[in-house]
Amino acid sequence: MPLMTGKEYRDSLRKRKPLTIFLHGEKIENPTEHPIIKASINSVALTYDFASDPQYRDVMTAKSSLTGNTINRFCHLHQSTDDLQNKVRMLRLLGQKCGTCFQRCVGMDALNAVFITTYEIDQTHGTDYHDRFTEYVKLAEKKDWTIDGAMTDPKGDRSKRPSEQRDPDVYVHVVERRKDGVVIRGAKAHQTGAINSHEHLIMPTASLQSEDRDYAICCAVPSDSPGITYYYGRQSSDMRRLDESTEGDIDCGNPIYGGQECLVVYDNVFVPNDRIFMNGETELCGRLVESFAAYHRQSYGGCKVGVGDVLIGAAATIAEYNGVLQASHIREKLTEMTHLNETLYSCGMACSACGTKTPAGNYLVDILLANVCKQNVTRFPFEIARILQDIAGGLFVTCPSARELRNPQTRKVIEKYLAGAEGVDTVNRIKMLRLIENLTLGRAAVGYLAESMHGAGSPQAQRIMIHRLSNIEEKKKMAKQLAQIEE
Ligand code: SF4
Ligand code: FE
Repeated sequence: MPLMTGKEYRDSLRKRKPLTIFLHGEKIENPTEHPIIKASINSVALTYDFASDPQYRDVMTAKSSLTGNTINRFCHLHQSTDDLQNKVRMLRLLGQKCGTCFQRCVGMDALNAVFITTYEIDQTHGTDYHDRFTEYVKLAEKKDWTIDGAMTDPKGDRSKRPSEQRDPDVYVHVVERRKDGVVIRGAKAHQTGAINSHEHLIMPTASLQSEDRDYAICCAVPSDSPGITYYYGRQSSDMRRLDESTEGDIDCGNPIYGGQECLVVYDNVFVPNDRIFMNGETELCGRLVESFAAYHRQSYGGCKVGVGDVLIGAAATIAEYNGVLQASHIREKLTEMTHLNETLYSCGMACSACGTKTPAGNYLVDILLANVCKQNVTRFPFEIARILQDIAGGLFVTCPSARELRNPQTRKVIEKYLAGAEGVDTVNRIKMLRLIENLTLGRAAVGYLAESMHGAGSPQAQRIMIHRLSNIEEKKKMAKQLAQIEE
């Protein structure tokens, strides 16, 4: 049965060849045991544990279109608009449970986008990428892989195309073509869950022209391939995770779960032919980028909504702890947060419900609505977080360290002066304030706010797509017809 448990997932990471990882200036020998990395693995592990939990199984699994087996939905090629909607439901659920980025969606989105594109390349070029890729998807389903959908190159000088860059390595490219495969070099930036993934599915980052042929490479490599180095992304307050005491856990805000972003460098990594899914077909790069981006912009209408639910819950809880839950302005603010959050969910569901079957056979979201979804995600979470900070009061940034609770003398003072509503445990109040700090300023803010802004493409990327798909000429005709204008 191709379904791993969280424990089996953790074991599978340990079985890999040693990875080269740099974090805080150190080479990390045992990533699965490092407190910062461990928290990010805990988030991915939920995607495995929930798949065999009877309560969540329906939304977390699907029937493979390739083998008929029950598989984790994260490895699934969407077969209907129901599948697309279930994906959004699944991501919302996971966001609610870990309060951060659970990393596995990029691989699911890449699988579906590359499935579409390999089919279309074969149609125009007579290549056999689609069969190769279908075999790869079968393997991903069977092994229940977490895959890093690796798209974003560092990009260097943004005014220049890949082949015009002073340093060609700022975009991943082919440096050697051999009979049995290719050798690639370059890097991918902001790679979500790269270390926690079994595989990297590497894709070009932009539409390319024929001069950029060497950059039109889509291929898969195991995450423990020789030549890969990981540079762990520093996140605010990350050192709090290294404080292993219970007090440190309180100051963490979300002690169990975290996200992961890395700069991944590919230094002459060999890719055999059966793992190459595009090699020089520049004119299809735009299609690949556009469909991957659309899927991932849909994803944000699920995961960020789930984390948004946690922010709303934190707002109501701290209001209760402060003794103001019944105040009319608090009710009004909670309603506003819910309205914004459910608007994002509506967009995620709408672009899914309006999805269509692709020539390759899987389902793609409505691209315009997916871009509208993500454009709203670049704004509404900031307002939701602003209201949460408003309700929390200033203590979420001025609260003394939880270490003061260790010393009975200082603990007495903290408990006396940081007490909230009658009957509320002061330590619980501090824990909730730290969670709020984490969600709106700390590590989880990377997954909630910064990622809402830039993940799946910065706001302008969506505006370009929205403009391109806005069909202004048709709309002009509608207006002219009503005004009885004949030109
Ligand atoms: Fe998944 Fe959201 Fe993280 Fe992207 S940001 S990988 S959609 S949880
Ligand atoms: Fe993301």
